[in-house]
Amino acid sequence: MPHDIAAASAFLPPDAARTLLDRWAAVRARVDSAARAAGRDPAGVTLVAVSKYHPAASVAALAAAGQRDFGENYVQEALRKQTEVADMAGMGPDAASEATTAGGAAPRWHFIGHLQSNKAKDVVGRFALIHTVDSESVARKLDQRLASLPVQGAGGVAPVQEILLQVNIGDEEQKSGVDPDDLPALAEAVLALPRLRLLGLMCMPPIFDDGEASRPYFARLRELRDALSSRVGLPLPHLSMGMSHDVEVAVAEGATIVRVGTDIFGPRPPKS
Ligand SMILES: *Cc1c(COP(=O)(O)O)cnc(C)c1O
Repeated sequence: MPHDIAAASAFLPPDAARTLLDRWAAVRARVDSAARAAGRDPAGVTLVAVSKYHPAASVAALAAAGQRDFGENYVQEALRKQTEVADMAGMGPDAASEATTAGGAAPRWHFIGHLQSNKAKDVVGRFALIHTVDSESVARKLDQRLASLPVQGAGGVAPVQEILLQVNIGDEEQKSGVDPDDLPALAEAVLALPRLRLLGLMCMPPIFDDGEASRPYFARLRELRDALSSRVGLPLPHLSMGMSHDVEVAVAEGATIVRVGTDIFGPRPPKS
């Protein structure tokens, strides 16, 4: 893809750009073939490139080559990087906008880190999708913040935020996410909030070396989604699951969004 490498090389040295694009193409190929093997359309799986700890230049390079979705875990790092990427790519001051340039579309940002109630106000409107809502208090804070934002456009569209609920699928003490038993109650509380749009579930199973070990957790998340969907009478189309080591298994079990960091960007540098 010489054209993509030329675009990415505006932001990275050519060798680094080539390595990044090769890794990215290899991951997309893994996702696409896992989808086909499961009898699914590869277009039905969104690849989120997880850029935590990686520099804005790597994001700008990948965006210029055509990658659209990026995931971040830490609020301050994410907001800083959004601005840096927008400045680098000449996309204007508002990174969250849908503005496009000759090089490619503006990134669509996903928040995938643990979300504390006191940070909820900072993420609203800055991310296309928040994957990690796991308590009623965080959901209420998001909704309150949305209520305070101005109505947009001539049509008077009230701001809404698309979200997923994070489930603590491995029943792990220290992990974020709602307990599966408490999921229906949380979903009903969220559905009562007018400015949040619930689109599905997200999970991060206990880490194993073998990606196959994630399969029962992914299957369980899908079952929880199916049960919740019938209970509330909404489609809840999205399952956000699968990382570098288990992305194929996640797609086989129905993931519509996969979150891959290491296999695209390489090992994470120390947090700066
Ligand atoms: C870091 C992170 C990822 C990406 O993990 P890799 O193993 O680097 O692919 C995905 N999801 C979440 C929630 C993360 O924190």
